[in-house]
Amino acid sequence: MEQAIISQAPQLEKLIATTAHEKMPWYHGKINRQEGERRLYSGVQPDGKFLVRDREELGSFALSVMYGKTVYHYQILQDKSGKLSMPEGTKFDTIWQLVEYLKMKPDGIVTVLGEACVNGKTAEKTPSLPATRRSAQNGYTPPPRAAALASNSATAVPVERDLLPMDCDGFNPYHNPNDIKRFNIQREQLLMDEVELGSGNFGCVKKGVLKTESGQIDVAIKVLKSENEKLVKEEMMREAEIMHQLSNPFIVRMLGLCNAENLMLVMEMAAAGPLNKFLSTRKDSVSVENIVNLMHQVSMGMKYLEEKNFVHRDLAARNVLLVNQQFAKISDFGLSKALGADDNYYKARTAGKWPLKWYAPECINYHKFSSKSDVWSFGVTMWEAFSYGGKPYKKMKGQEVSTFINNGGRMECPPACPERMYTVMKECWTYSHEDRPDFKKVEESMRTYHYSISGKAKLEGADAAAEPSK
Ligand code: ADP
Ligand code: MG
Repeated sequence: MEQAIISQAPQLEKLIATTAHEKMPWYHGKINRQEGERRLYSGVQPDGKFLVRDREELGSFALSVMYGKTVYHYQILQDKSGKLSMPEGTKFDTIWQLVEYLKMKPDGIVTVLGEACVNGKTAEKTPSLPATRRSAQNGYTPPPRAAALASNSATAVPVERDLLPMDCDGFNPYHNPNDIKRFNIQREQLLMDEVELGSGNFGCVKKGVLKTESGQIDVAIKVLKSENEKLVKEEMMREAEIMHQLSNPFIVRMLGLCNAENLMLVMEMAAAGPLNKFLSTRKDSVSVENIVNLMHQVSMGMKYLEEKNFVHRDLAARNVLLVNQQFAKISDFGLSKALGADDNYYKARTAGKWPLKWYAPECINYHKFSSKSDVWSFGVTMWEAFSYGGKPYKKMKGQEVSTFINNGGRMECPPACPERMYTVMKECWTYSHEDRPDFKKVEESMRTYHYSISGKAKLEGADAAAEPSK
């Protein structure tokens, strides 16, 4: 259930957000202007005291505000796409966001909003998030185990089950619209370790700590080599620009850029490192079910990218990073592109240093990149995962792989890989991108299989435990 909820998180968030005002103390439902005035004039009458009510016409709202002992009424406008605003003011998706904004900025009305004129129904019970989620409003969740144990409530993690992503530090599907991203990180806020997490042409990735008002966060810092010229700097800015637009639990979050002795891209830390390395050193301790879970998470992250019209272009096990053994995040947006609203693919003008073994035929033949070509790479990434970090296409060169694929060749099923998972891989390697499944479909296949085996494994475990010892 929890996993199903995560995969639907964006839709759920929207649903909750668009109806959230109904539970707010300042929302009075369908009352007319006179009743609104009566309620505002009763009791104290400070400037900014306000309420929101439904207007006579269905689905439209009005704001009534007290100022200088007089009540002013405003119609809340809604444009064709459903966005809400004050006349000529900033537009918002939801009523409560608009109200929160008007508390800070008058945006054309007599005064900023102050105290709520409390509606009788919600007076006693102001809505709040569950204990373990509450701090997420400020951007960061507390360490999960500690929070779960401290709250000692129904939300605590049962001891017998594996940690799920949402139990982990850094799992934060709820982003606060008022939480302004610190795109510009000051050098004083960063402590950099000597420890190198990885390196590449661009420079290296170092371990570090970011100091914020709400505490310290472990971070990974991509440091550009100082001798690099303008072009490489621009590349990193583009990578940051892409990451800045993404917010999903299964995608590494960017925390900001810092322009100091070098240009630095600051990201949340995925301490257990790249998936291929992790699996190749733990062949005996990581179960197939565990790998199915991780690859399902990757498919959820990719489904999110597909919905947002971003192509990754470098999906591979080396670019799936682990927070821990149960929690994967997609990283390395160095080659990624945001597609235009009307574009189905990105066309590269020239071929670059490309990971050919992960690329679909249309990428190699026509330089066309789409979410469908990411699906092909997902298949190769699955193959790497189920062969515990094996190298795809053995010793073949990129060009040989291309010929092999064109002749209908495909990699074999890795020894430990379940038949159902190999079927998904082969579907990902459908030659024509038109017939290839999209991530919506792939995520569904991964989810269905993941739930079917995790349920069974739990039951079998329980049966075994219930058996009387002889
Ligand atoms: P490249 O474009 O050179 O592949 P990556 O973004 O993949 O650069 O980073 C290179 C390496 O740095 C990764 O393979 C990984 O080992 C380490 N690394 C990158 N980002 C993180 C992170 N957020 N947390 C932990 N390690 C990271
Ligand atoms: Mg990489």
